[in-house]
Amino acid sequence: MRTRATAEFERRFGAAPAFLVRAPGRVNLIGEHTDYNDGFVLPMAIDRDVWIAVQPRDDGRVAVHSLDYHETVGFPLGNISDEHSGWGEYIKGVAWALQEAGYSLTGWEGILASDVPIGAGLSSSAALEMAAARAFAAVSGLPWDATQMARIGQRAENEWVGMSCGIMDQMISAAGVEGHALLIDCRSLETRPVPLPPGTAVVVLDTSTRRALLDSAYNERRAQCEAAARFFGVPALRDVSIEQFEAQADRLDGVVRRRARHVVTENARTLQAAQAMLQEDAVELGRLISSSHASLRDDFAVSTDELDKMVTCTSNARSASAGCYGARMMGAGFGGCAIALIHTNSARAFARDVATCYRRSTGREAHICLCAATNGAEVMHHFP
Ligand code: ADP
Ligand code: MG
Repeated sequence: MRTRATAEFERRFGAAPAFLVRAPGRVNLIGEHTDYNDGFVLPMAIDRDVWIAVQPRDDGRVAVHSLDYHETVGFPLGNISDEHSGWGEYIKGVAWALQEAGYSLTGWEGILASDVPIGAGLSSSAALEMAAARAFAAVSGLPWDATQMARIGQRAENEWVGMSCGIMDQMISAAGVEGHALLIDCRSLETRPVPLPPGTAVVVLDTSTRRALLDSAYNERRAQCEAAARFFGVPALRDVSIEQFEAQADRLDGVVRRRARHVVTENARTLQAAQAMLQEDAVELGRLISSSHASLRDDFAVSTDELDKMVTCTSNARSASAGCYGARMMGAGFGGCAIALIHTNSARAFARDVATCYRRSTGREAHICLCAATNGAEVMHHFP
């Protein structure tokens, strides 16, 4: 991707770019549906990234060509207008939010190439926003404050593009640390890097199904969580401990009780998972990941038959008994990807066995890839 972006840049502009920037997609090890409850998440930046080769322009315009969409988007920084033009709105939204935050921007032109799968739940949109923010920061000489830039990306997506999302995706794409996941407190935005246990790797298992009816289900879950927080008299479910929950839960309506139980226990699991990682305990981390799946399936009711079958295949697969520590559905639910924590040595056999099992039980092809934990958005090259 890196060479795709720079080679095309050199072909079009007849010179090397001034900067080459990248920003990664992500997986979330554990902490699902906890972000909007002010809770904890544990994502990891992965070696699938959006790359942009750029050079500054002195006419205050931005022009970006996406090699993935075979399309160029251009706009003047002095008068950005929303044309509902698809992917270009993410770049415009970042420019708008940066200017709203008081930054003075320089224009640029660039070539964009990415290998973050689009719409698969690995957050290609946040990677695009953070790559654009990194490009603006590089050409305009802005300091890179990861948390501030994540907020700007989230604002671009919420208010310019019009997609409601939490801050996790932008935060991990901006602030990831190689070899580590990042424990993020979604209330304070404090982050703490925690290392992947030695000898383990994360595998993404794409069910080849995509979410449907997600918006209404998502809004319904949010409303149920808010109702539960009101019942406990706290600002968000993050403020309810497992003990408090158990003491009063029988007075809650059955469905709301199950939704709240997922969030309360998932928050606790996420903190325990970070602890397990610090203790290099892959077995405990895997156990927590698998409990997260059961909770998302039974209490939060956001899994699907395909996601459940994929997770079952990870424990059925012959090599898995030796090499898979745990697996769960990932993301908002109703389709998309699962993840598994595996022993690095068993990666190849694991992928083969899970793919076979998934094909047998669903008739669908699984897309499986092994991920490494990478840094967040960065300038890879500053050509003199
Ligand atoms: P995801 O789960 O991948 O974040 P989203 O629907 O939130 O899915 O974001 C996908 C959108 O991000 C695409 O529809 C497109 O507008 C934009 N995007 C992602 N990757 C690229 C790319 N390589 N080039 C241009 N736009 C991209
Ligand atoms: Mg997205």
